Amino acid sequence: MVGALDITITKVETSRLKDINLENIPFGRHFTDHMLEADYENGEWKNVEIKPYQPLLLEPSTAALHYGQAIFEGIKAYRSPDGQVSIFRPEDNFKRFNLSAERMNMPVVPEDIFMDGMRMLIHVDREWAPSLPDHSLYIRPFMFASDSMIGVKPSDSYKFIILLSPTGPYYAAPMKIYVEEKYTRAAPGGVGFAKNAGNYGGSMLATAMAKKQGYDQVLWTDAFEHKYLQEVGTMNVFFIAGNTAITPSLEDGTILAGVTRDSAIVVLKEMGLDVVERKISVDELIELHKKGGLREVFGTGTAATISMIKELKYKDYVMNFDTDNAATARELKKRLTAIREGKAADTHGWMVKVNG
Ligand SMILES: *Cc1c(COP(=O)(O)O)cnc(C)c1O
Repeated sequence: MVGALDITITKVETSRLKDINLENIPFGRHFTDHMLEADYENGEWKNVEIKPYQPLLLEPSTAALHYGQAIFEGIKAYRSPDGQVSIFRPEDNFKRFNLSAERMNMPVVPEDIFMDGMRMLIHVDREWAPSLPDHSLYIRPFMFASDSMIGVKPSDSYKFIILLSPTGPYYAAPMKIYVEEKYTRAAPGGVGFAKNAGNYGGSMLATAMAKKQGYDQVLWTDAFEHKYLQEVGTMNVFFIAGNTAITPSLEDGTILAGVTRDSAIVVLKEMGLDVVERKISVDELIELHKKGGLREVFGTGTAATISMIKELKYKDYVMNFDTDNAATARELKKRLTAIREGKAADTHGWMVKVNG
């Protein structure tokens, strides 16, 4: 199935799958029988293993726990009607993982360990890939600094792990969003474009404060003026005005380049929309809304695919959107889901089969 990857496989004696109902299984709580683990030591990757899912034994001085050198990815695999399990655009996640690694001064993970290792692991746990509509196998590769040393310096050793987690439909109710003017997610020169653990840790207070006021998430704005729109929570954001889709551009390095964002750009164009990547300010958004030109706002990401937004609040100005008639978001989600579940032609070569 795969090339020259030197990997040790130790299988469980009895699978836990028989105790688990995959129907409507909640996101991120159940893990498959096996995991992949590899170590980086003395300048090389070694000990590549697929083994039973199990706790890690770590020293309390493990560097990642103190200084946050930790990155991750989120990918999904789907079972098509013929039973075949395929992964959605994993090469893009692989490249992004290594971009995150470089930014966090961590070693890159070789393609065979990441890609072939992921396919082998899914193959071992293939029975765990749900076949129900809107269900998938969530893939979580991650890497962290594993030196047992609390001197402040880049770690010499790292651990790379892949976990698999079966997941049911991610019902994303239309969201109420608060335009954030105090806290900042990312600034130019920072780590906003990297999928590092700290970006999530740093965003939790703002989200909790928004929740206290009855909002689901925040719409992040730029660090200098709190005017230019970045992302909604941990999703990329799209604004539909007339026949145009606008999404914030990536050049400042303050936005995570989502694989779903990129896929949405391609599919929206196929749907006949003009797609523009550029800076967009909250003032422009309000102008568009006042003129009646802003039809839909939605977020994109691997977990929920598309999350519609029903309310946006900036200072005292509230914008409401009729999400029951959000035709663009609905059609986009339908098309992306059909490709991923093998129910529409994969004309872009986005699906990578686990076997073959
Ligand atoms: C992961 C992530 C996204 C979405 O990326 P996808 O590849 O579409 O899942 C968007 N924003 C942030 C901050 C993220 O961490």
